Amino acid sequence: MTSFLLRDARLVDLDGGGTPDRPVDLRIVDGTVAEVGPGLAAEGLVEVAADGRWLMPGLWDQHVHLTQWSLTAARLDLAGARSAAQAVAAVRERLAEWPDAPVIGWGHRPTDWPEDPLVSTLDAIDTDQPVVLIAGDGHHGWLNTTALMTLALPSREGVVAEGEWFAAYARLATMLGDDGTGPEAVLRTQELAAALGVVGVTDLEFAGGPDQWIERWEAGAGLLRVRVATYADGLDDVVERGLRTGDVLPGCDERARMGPLKIISDGSLNTRTAWCCDPYTGPSPLGFPHGQPNQTPEELRELLRRATAHGLDVAVHAIGDQAVREALDAIAETGAHGSIEHAQLVCRDDVRRMAELGVTASVQPAHLVDDRDATDRLWPGRGHRCFAFRWMLDDGVTLALGSDAPVAPLDPWRAIAAAVHRTVDGREPWYAEQAITLREALAASTDGRGTVAAGDPADLVLVDQDPLGDWAARLPAPAVAATWVAGRPAHADM
Ligand SMILES: [Zn+2]
Repeated sequence: MTSFLLRDARLVDLDGGGTPDRPVDLRIVDGTVAEVGPGLAAEGLVEVAADGRWLMPGLWDQHVHLTQWSLTAARLDLAGARSAAQAVAAVRERLAEWPDAPVIGWGHRPTDWPEDPLVSTLDAIDTDQPVVLIAGDGHHGWLNTTALMTLALPSREGVVAEGEWFAAYARLATMLGDDGTGPEAVLRTQELAAALGVVGVTDLEFAGGPDQWIERWEAGAGLLRVRVATYADGLDDVVERGLRTGDVLPGCDERARMGPLKIISDGSLNTRTAWCCDPYTGPSPLGFPHGQPNQTPEELRELLRRATAHGLDVAVHAIGDQAVREALDAIAETGAHGSIEHAQLVCRDDVRRMAELGVTASVQPAHLVDDRDATDRLWPGRGHRCFAFRWMLDDGVTLALGSDAPVAPLDPWRAIAAAVHRTVDGREPWYAEQAITLREALAASTDGRGTVAAGDPADLVLVDQDPLGDWAARLPAPAVAATWVAGRPAHADM
């Protein structure tokens, strides 16, 4: 179903130009918003009642490693379970959602539970799927009998611990017949994202590239819009096949497209390999007090030239300020088009150059929550130049938010909240002068789309409260009632 009439939706004012006070109707035809207005006639279309909920363009995560995130996200998080009963309830909930998938949970810590984790407790759950719950400290597994049999372990009433468990854990992926990265797992990951209102991702996974997504699409695992990057080692193949950025991948529909050439030009803050103008504090175990580039200037330019000549955008990972400067130099010299990924530490002048060159800043605000202490320690006096979103927007740089999942969870709302409040964990805001407004952060999460209007693709999300309200100060985000990708339902909870 890519045609329907959405009745009584409040438009979220992403452009800031004002929206109707009252809910409106939207006619969606063949995956496109054909008409927006009050009291539209259904004219034979199926009607979907929005009941006055808020409607905005669907969210994008512009930097994910989707295979890695599938592995992480598929594991049921039981860190919050306070009893065996709570853990079992979570397992039941997961099975209700995905009845045909084994349940792999992690994070439970039964030391303070009122009852012991027993095999019979898990066996009381009506399922033929293996249930494997990995303890928070990694030292035991709590399995149901099906899982014990699958892993060829003797039956018992207690958990599998220590040496016996470590050996079994190593066999987990193969014995379950799905290593967590197959089409079904990747589809489930997309379902989780759609439940957060995500309609598209830029997949910068290290291995796999376009062919892996073509296989996934063939297997029916397409749900979101996906832009698939290639790395330098896949560039020859992409060029040979004539795939340009934006092209629909062979055998796929319009949702799966070729993305950019991804280039990792420097390292990271925590490993002290991000390439900086000033040295890191403290000893430099790797022998590079400023971090270092991963390519020579010639190598970087050659990659940019090649990509540009063959119609590919570039996505240049640059975390340190020297790496950002070098990337901008190379982009200016080669005429390449695309983004700098991360741009975590920047010099003021380079932000202006980024705007002049039309380079998108593809940034991950949630990292500021994780990296603030390391920044103060390793880059003292430079924190005000980190995650400099205010400078970027003030200078006219296009900002595109992402998560870098699995480094941070694939959750655009968390990225938005971090960009707006410069904290999400109750600590004081970190360099609040670099904060952006909620409207700016939302607009940086919709792949350039503004207030929903006729002519837009029907990549839409319907939420239970106003996304421009005060939710961001206290996560959780507004609940997502429905998500559509090109007019197709990707999530519904209403
Ligand atoms: Zn990444």
